[in-house]
Amino acid sequence: MKEISVQSASRFEMIDITGTVRASVREEKIESGIVLVYTPHTTAAVTINENADPDVPRDLLAALDRAVPLSANYRHSEGNSAAHVKSSLVGASEMVIVENGRLVLGAWQSIFFCEFDGPRTRKVFIKFLK
Ligand code: ZN
Repeated sequence: MKEISVQSASRFEMIDITGTVRASVREEKIESGIVLVYTPHTTAAVTINENADPDVPRDLLAALDRAVPLSANYRHSEGNSAAHVKSSLVGASEMVIVENGRLVLGAWQSIFFCEFDGPRTRKVFIKFLK
């Protein structure tokens, strides 16, 4: 398993970590298998979506914000319930196929770390299933 550190710069942010995952696949010399990208946090997530147009991650964050407002009579006293809800909606991990030493992603797909309660230093674990 490999651990990477991700530094978010704002409260809500989608950070493209595709390059880091790709580099890990190369380092491990994986020819064929699956890579699991997992974040062990309850107010963050991992997802795959488009990054060719930066408006897509921006729209995703805005839509999540409309669906899950910051305040809505939540009971959790830490004050970050919206971030917990978004984390569960989006999910903590993604699995990507590796074939011929390469991540099998669509032309417009990128792997994003999603920050919902930043800025913070976060962890992402990468596990290779060969
Ligand atoms: Zn909390």
